[in-house]
Amino acid sequence: MSRKSKLYEGKAKILYEGPEPGTIIQYFKDDATAFNNQKHATLAGKGVLNNHISEFIFTQLGKIGVPNHFIRRLSMREQLIKGVEIIPLEVIIRNIAAGSICKRLGIDEGTALPRPLVEFCYKADELGDPVVSEDHILTFGWANEYELEDIVSLALRINDYMSGLMAGIGITLVDFKLEFGRLYEGDDYMTVLADEISPDSCRLWDNKTGEKMDKDRFRRDLGGEIEAYSEVARRLGVLPSADVADLDNHRKRK
Ligand code: UDP
Repeated sequence: MSRKSKLYEGKAKILYEGPEPGTIIQYFKDDATAFNNQKHATLAGKGVLNNHISEFIFTQLGKIGVPNHFIRRLSMREQLIKGVEIIPLEVIIRNIAAGSICKRLGIDEGTALPRPLVEFCYKADELGDPVVSEDHILTFGWANEYELEDIVSLALRINDYMSGLMAGIGITLVDFKLEFGRLYEGDDYMTVLADEISPDSCRLWDNKTGEKMDKDRFRRDLGGEIEAYSEVARRLGVLPSADVADLDNHRKRK
């Protein structure tokens, strides 16, 4: 990884300068964090799985007309993306109550919501990513009203698509998190889907067993994270190899 300069290192990914202007290399790490970085571990093979799962979902979303930053996968852990200016919001779409909404509003986990609920959190680790309203977003200028309109309609379309995709492989899409960015073309710019979509950013419950197939396995010390992520990849038809962790260790040793 010496060839390109590092632009940013986050909890689960590193961004490097891309080969052409306006491109970035997104590298998926094995690091897992939760509770605003208080819990940390390395899950061998997670980055490889998330790279492949996210590639598949972004490619499919592109085909149904959801503009996004994905260009192509470069390697087991890297993908080439378009450089965008990230809008500082985590956009959360919920179909079933789980996680923070249960604590905040006193709702039982597993309660089906009568309609998909879109929530916004302001991306600020030092504040613990607080939930904010559309009015906060407009007041503080994190996004304008046109961007917000795009974000909500894209988020709901993505939810429709993803719910169907997961249902087809026996998985319930409980909730997930999206990030959007501004893609500049000359003086003009458009709102595009950015970041990643993977079991790190979704809650996925197996329809038959009710088992969690997502990052809650790590958050709640359930174990079996890699097996669960691999199973999601296998059902999507994107499992990169029989044994991701072994293959990846082999690569690192070389
Ligand atoms: N999420 C995420 N990154 C975050 C916060 C949440 O990817 O920084 C995802 C999370 O995996 C879940 C959804 O967004 O699928 C809703 O998360 P929630 O607000 O319930 O927060 P949590 O329970 O993770 O604290």
